[in-house]
Amino acid sequence: MRALITGVTGQDGSYLAEQLAADGVEVYGLIRGQRNPKAGWIKALVPSLTLIEGDLLDQSSLQRALVQAQPDVVYNLGALTFVGMSWDQPTLMTEVTGLGALRMLEAIRAVNPAIRFVQASSSEQFGSSPAPQNELTPFRPRSPYGVAKLFAHHVTVNYRESYGIHASTAIMFNHESPRRGEEFVTQKVAKAAKRIAAGSGEAIRFGNVTPRRDWGWAPDYMRALPLIAAAEPDDFVLATGESHSVLELIGEALRAAGVREAPNVVVGDPEFNRPADVACLQGDARKAQYLLGWTPTVRFEEIVRRLVEAA
Ligand code: NAP
Repeated sequence: MRALITGVTGQDGSYLAEQLAADGVEVYGLIRGQRNPKAGWIKALVPSLTLIEGDLLDQSSLQRALVQAQPDVVYNLGALTFVGMSWDQPTLMTEVTGLGALRMLEAIRAVNPAIRFVQASSSEQFGSSPAPQNELTPFRPRSPYGVAKLFAHHVTVNYRESYGIHASTAIMFNHESPRRGEEFVTQKVAKAAKRIAAGSGEAIRFGNVTPRRDWGWAPDYMRALPLIAAAEPDDFVLATGESHSVLELIGEALRAAGVREAPNVVVGDPEFNRPADVACLQGDARKAQYLLGWTPTVRFEEIVRRLVEAA
């Protein structure tokens, strides 16, 4: 069994590479840029991994990667992933996160249409659709990121229906780990809680803290992807079914860090507000549970505790 992972240097790609290698899969990872600073890190984590230079912006590099890796499955995790950035660089976001999936599907069609494809779709595609959201919920994205992800999602479904490609999507709700990028709110909160507990006394500012998210544990979600690749091609929501507000996240992190009072935590700072917010994402993952036997194992309080401990 051979697999190619795009986004192998990211949170999810690194966990998936570890898990697949431990299961005896020959793992290839697409890595962008010359002398990518994360190459050493990911090779140390997964010594058997073969890195192939390529970019989701470059069609021919994807075809070459498929010819070299000859994968049975491509896991397309590569993307620009920060919602906030997607308002500042919407065209780049769409090129990488949206069109990148199309380029990979076209590469599969050209090189070997029997290659299976798993697309990392996102709960941000649901946007303003009321919670709980499942595979039948209409998509109403509220950010350029959500729109780009939705394009990638629809084109995956379209290539399955048009060309019979074994192409599936994992519609993943937020999932975290110590490997999550520092720009994400969970990391911002966990690191701040740790510093405040150490006596920094610093002021931490947040924008709107009412949005609710369904936060899971990243390695749990990566366990589902090979199950999706092995199943009939389809779309699967991956979620815990619980949601918590950003304010609850802040409170839980401070508690986990042992902070009793944090008078300098400021919420509602307009500087951090986004042009549009998504009020509540809370997933219904019963389909994945029934058809794949997948269930998440780590819940909100434990996730926050682990993030604070590792911060
Ligand atoms: P991440 O940590 O930000 O990793 C993103 C990966 O994409 C990195 O390896 C990055 O490479 C790579 N990448 C960026 N631009 C690229 C390009 N032009 N060509 C090739 N690779 C490129 O994201 P993550 O949290 O692991 O998420 C993995 C996937 O799941 C993403 O598609 C994300 O949208 C989706 N998703 C994540 C969540 C979540 O809560 N984490 C939820 C739903 C869906 P560099 O290291 O070189 O920057």
